Amino acid sequence: MKCPVCGKGELQAVDDILSEIEGLAFVERGHRCSVCGEEFIDEADSNRTIKVARRLGIWGEPLRLRRKLSQSGRGIVLRIPEDLRQSMGLKGTESVALSKIGSKKILVEVEAK
Ligand SMILES: [Zn+2]
Repeated sequence: MKCPVCGKGELQAVDDILSEIEGLAFVERGHRCSVCGEEFIDEADSNRTIKVARRLGIWGEPLRLRRKLSQSGRGIVLRIPEDLRQSMGLKGTESVALSKIGSKKILVEVEAK
């Protein structure tokens, strides 16, 4: 397989790609270009790294999470996913500030714990 980055090298299977997240090294399988050295991590391994990093609480920004709004009385409720709740240490009693950004975005800021 030709390298999609430089277009010259061949991609060789390797099992020693190092990804560093918050000072921890993760060894992954993937392919490395014989010319430019660009590394391509196998999807399964990269998913595993993300999973482990999340469990350790070192995966920086959560990926975009999709939630459905639900209705309660006359209001609309947005549930905070459990892993987000845990990583932010939310108790569920905090105040939040909502800011409307454009017509399709809402920013939620935790004000006090
Ligand atoms: Zn290359």
